[in-house]
Amino acid sequence: MLGEQKRVEQRRAAKRRYRERHLDEILEKGREKGRIYYYAHQEENKAKARAYREAHRLERVIYNRRYKRTHQEAITTQRAYHRTLRREDLRQKAQVYQDKNREAVRARVNAYHKAHRQELNYRTLNRRLVKRAAGAGVTSDQWKAIVKAYGGACAYCGRKTKLTMDHVIPIVKGGAHTPANVVPACRECNSRKGSRPAPTPPPVRLLV
Ligand SMILES: [Zn+2]
Repeated sequence: MLGEQKRVEQRRAAKRRYRERHLDEILEKGREKGRIYYYAHQEENKAKARAYREAHRLERVIYNRRYKRTHQEAITTQRAYHRTLRREDLRQKAQVYQDKNREAVRARVNAYHKAHRQELNYRTLNRRLVKRAAGAGVTSDQWKAIVKAYGGACAYCGRKTKLTMDHVIPIVKGGAHTPANVVPACRECNSRKGSRPAPTPPPVRLLV
């Protein structure tokens, strides 16, 4: 009787050891079975799922709304996670696209630069000056307001032509890159640094 029990225990232990040694194989076999079952019943299961979704449409809408309301943080985290996964993929796709369409991409970039030259020049200038002026700066909105205050005309000669940003006290002479030291000027007046009259004050005091 005791011998019988011992043999049962030994068989169990052997089984356990076998399972431990072959765990990966066993798991893979199970997964394989699952895969076979999944593909064999794919259409059937899809139809079932569709029927279920249709039968429970309203419930699902309510559930989804509630879920969205109560799991905002989880949803944000999840989205960020998927974005990271997709980022590398998107980067590679973009690279492939660029390599394939080199000419078209270059033409588009050139066209954009041409159409936005003023803006891009302004941004480059502002970035450079802000860096030098350490923290000061003129925002795009402030610059637009300044130009508007001058009626869209050069602060020196009053001509309504292509305007550039002019520093009344030049940066090289210690002038600040701030709204108070900036006026619109035509190219000619802007380049005539030394021998030019003081700029006309704008008709309306700037609110910037
Ligand atoms: Zn001018």
